[in-house]
Amino acid sequence: MKAATLISAREVRNRPLEIRELAKPLLGEGQVLLRVRACGVCRTDLHIVEGELPPRKEAVIPGHQIVGKIIGGATPQLPNGARVGVSWLGGVDGTCFYCKHQQENLCDSPTFTGYTVDGGYAECAVVRADFAFPLPGCLDDLHAAPLLCAGIIGFRSIRVAGVQRGERVGLFGFGASAHLAIAVLRAWQCRVYVSTRGERHRKLAASLGADWVGGENDKPPVALDRAITFAPSGDVVVAALASLRKGGVVAINAIHLDRIPQFDYDRLLWGERQLRSVTNMTRADARDFLQLAAEIRLHPKATAFSLDDVNDALIAVKNDSIDGAAVIVVSKS
Ligand SMILES: [Zn+2]
Ligand SMILES: [Zn+2]
Repeated sequence: MKAATLISAREVRNRPLEIRELAKPLLGEGQVLLRVRACGVCRTDLHIVEGELPPRKEAVIPGHQIVGKIIGGATPQLPNGARVGVSWLGGVDGTCFYCKHQQENLCDSPTFTGYTVDGGYAECAVVRADFAFPLPGCLDDLHAAPLLCAGIIGFRSIRVAGVQRGERVGLFGFGASAHLAIAVLRAWQCRVYVSTRGERHRKLAASLGADWVGGENDKPPVALDRAITFAPSGDVVVAALASLRKGGVVAINAIHLDRIPQFDYDRLLWGERQLRSVTNMTRADARDFLQLAAEIRLHPKATAFSLDDVNDALIAVKNDSIDGAAVIVVSKS
C-alpha cells in the first residue's frame, strides 16, 4: 500500500512526510482493517511532524480523522463494507483509574491514532474495532473526515466549557474546530462572539452566523458566559479570561500552548471564573457528536488534497491558507 511516513520531524516547508510503498498492515486481535477513503489533517499532525510532540513511534504514518471501509476483521456490528470513522483516541487500557471513572479521555495508557500507532495517511489502516464509529450516511467522505477530530474535540470543548442552551459563548480563533463548533452552538440558540485573526476567518465566521465578529485584539461587547480558545497561544487564553462574566468558564482547546503569560488574578480569575483544559475525547463524545452532526446536517467546509500532496495539505494548515479543513482523499472505490 501507499503511505505517507514520518521518518524524522522537521518543519513542514521541508516536506517531512515521505510517500512510500509499504506492506499492508497485519490485523491483530480486536482490530479491523480499513481501506482508507479520506483522512482529515489536524493541527496536531503539525505538532507531530514538526516535532513539538516528541516522537513515540519510529517511522509513523500520521493522520487521525480517518474515514474508511471495513475490508478485514469484520464483526456483526461492523460488517465488511461498513463505513466507519476513527479519531485521535485509538484505544485505552480499560483498567486505569480514569477508564473506571468514565474519564477514558484521561487514560494513563492511551493509544493515539497516527502518533503512537500508524494512522490514516495511507491506503489501508488497522484500528481497534471498539474505537471505530459507524458514520451517518448523509455526509460524504470529504465532509465526514473533519468531524472526526476537529468536530469531536470542538464538541468536547463545548461540554468542558459547560455551555447551556441560549448562553453567550466566545470562540477565540476560527479554524477547523471552531467552524464546526459554531454550528452546534447555533443549533442550541447560543449567541456566538468570534475573535480571530485574518479577514478571511472573520468573513467565514460572519457567514456561519456569528452574532459578533472582531479581530484578535477586540473584546466582545458583552461579558461572556463561556469562552473556548483554539489558538496555541497563552495570550489568547488571557484575552478569553478577560471577556468572561463572574462564574464564567474558559475551555482551552489546544494540545500545546506556547506559554501562559502572567496575569492579574484579582481582575481575571477571582469571581469563580474557571480555566479548564480540554484533553482528548471519549467514545461517548464521538458518538453523541456524530449523531448531533447528522441531526443538524452539519456540513463542514473542506478542501481535498491527494495523498501525494500530503505535505502541501500540512503547509496549507500551518499557513491558514484554506477555509475550514484540509482533507486527504485517498480512494473513492
Ligand atoms: Zn485507562
Ligand atoms: Zn486532531
